[in-house]
Formats: sequence, C-alpha cells, structure tokens
Amino acid sequence: MDITEESVQELEQPGTPAARAARRKATALPNDDLCTGCGICASVCPVSCISIVVSESNFNGISRIDRERCTGCNVCAIDCPWFAIEMVYPDGTKKAPAEYDRQLQRQRGYR
Ligand code: SF4
Ligand code: SF4
Repeated sequence: MDITEESVQELEQPGTPAARAARRKATALPNDDLCTGCGICASVCPVSCISIVVSESNFNGISRIDRERCTGCNVCAIDCPWFAIEMVYPDGTKKAPAEYDRQLQRQRGYR
C-alpha cells in the first residue's frame, strides 16, 4: 500500500477505520533486559518470525522478532517464561495482558 498524505492524515485521526485498524493489531516486542535467550518463543511462533540472535548481553543470545510478519497472535508473549515479550500497538501503546488473559488460560489448560 502506498503511503499518501491522505492515508497519513486518516491514520492520525482517531476513530477513522484506518486508525482503528492500525491500532487493533499489536505486534510482539521483546525486552532485551529480560530475555534469557531460551528460544521458547521462537519454537512456538506459528509463522516462524522469531529468531535468537547472538548478543553480548546474554550467552544464549536474545530474541529478535520480524514485526512485519508478526500476526499479533499473542502466543509468544503468553509462553515466554520471563514475561519478556510485550504486545505493542503501532502507536506505541502496550496491550494489557488482561486483554488476552482468556487466551492465556485456554492455551495453558487452566480451564
Ligand atoms: S521465550 Fe522469552 S526469554 Fe525465551 S527467548 Fe523468547 S523472549 Fe527471550
Ligand atoms: S505474536 Fe504470534 S506471530 Fe507474533 S511473534 Fe509472537 S508468536 Fe509470532
């Protein structure tokens, strides 16, 4: 999709369909300070858009997410044992884990 002045203006107006769509899809963002490089997120991502890369800050490496390919399914954020992945909307606001709490419970078999 080409980015035009009109499309940018539409995105900047809260409540327009484009703005709502842009905000709807939060994508995964790892926190390098919390990531242990365990690789669980990379193994559970349904679209394989997570890789573990070499890092000086961690012997195991740290996770890197191709956010263009991320579908926003929440699975990696749910499965990260260290709560090192947050779901972040394009406008930079964070999706509250409570928003996918039911999904979390279902996937972990709590109900
Ligand atoms: S599951 Fe969490 S701690 Fe493990 S590599 Fe992924 S982001 Fe890092
Ligand atoms: S939210 Fe889903 S698609 Fe996106 S990186 Fe995590 S597991 Fe992969």
